[in-house]
Amino acid sequence: MDEYIVEVQDLVKRYANLTAVNGISFKVKKGEVFGLLGPNGAGKTTTLECLEGLRRPDGGTVRVGGIDPQTDVRKLRKLLGVQLQNSSMPDSIRPSEAMELICAWHRIPPRRDLLNMFGLDPQSRKQYREMSTGQKRRLHLALALACDPAVVILDEPTAGLDVQGRAQLHEAIRRLRHSGVTILMATHDMAEAETLCDRVAILVRGRIATIGTPAQITSAGLGETRIILRTQKNCLLPGRDIGGARFVRQEEDYGTWLCRDAAASVVALLQEVQRAGDTVEDLRVERPSLEERFLELVERDAS
Ligand code: ADP
Repeated sequence: MDEYIVEVQDLVKRYANLTAVNGISFKVKKGEVFGLLGPNGAGKTTTLECLEGLRRPDGGTVRVGGIDPQTDVRKLRKLLGVQLQNSSMPDSIRPSEAMELICAWHRIPPRRDLLNMFGLDPQSRKQYREMSTGQKRRLHLALALACDPAVVILDEPTAGLDVQGRAQLHEAIRRLRHSGVTILMATHDMAEAETLCDRVAILVRGRIATIGTPAQITSAGLGETRIILRTQKNCLLPGRDIGGARFVRQEEDYGTWLCRDAAASVVALLQEVQRAGDTVEDLRVERPSLEERFLELVERDAS
């Protein structure tokens, strides 16, 4: 049976006249990477802040490991590691000193192993102000893990990072997942969610527009799968519709078809190639992306 470690039920949070979170419910299973996606202002950070105990909900309930973050802060600190969106440190602090400080606060010996795990040299004399944005993010992640939390919350973990910094942080998150930690992350980066998350909830204006695995969400949309094919003798060009595959364009020797049922359409196209005594030289099948589905949902809400 699935064991849920994070539970959000009918959560409502208002700021004066604005309802930032408007009755959302979701549950995160133990060991899962769960993504909260949405455009800016959708209510992702507010939701996470309610789980972190930083904001008091105006309605509904939130639980982390069965704990109400508003009433049992001490237990929550042992269970939950948080990497805030805009974490900062004193300019002159070194990574090892920051780790010592946080471990002293948790009353545990310094966890230099975590600095190693995230590619930070525990001997480094570099001060916080001299570190790159990527190194700072990895340091904050290492600090969030100092108390061996069962759940880690990451708010826009790769915002503002360059390609290499983003890849390093993704690797760190994957390693974390393999160690069995449950990860709840907010992001507006769809490609990031698609590669890292087991399940996602898409938030639009304080409500959940859809929830599921990235594959479930993309397949529920209007998006069609693209099949791109090149054969030796160009037997399918100039193109035509075949089975459920609709021919849309020819670029040099490549033909592109759109379809709903990718498996059946690929079979129909390949049978046609075989019938013509031709040979496939290149075949690509591109499913609609999470980003396409996301834009569909956001635009539907705006219209
Ligand atoms: P997201 O993380 O998805 O960008 P937020 O939870 O930060 O969304 O914000 C949701 C909405 O609540 C936004 O319209 C934002 O301007 C508003 N908001 C966030 N924090 C505050 C605050 N402290 N006071 C007033 N409004 C806020």
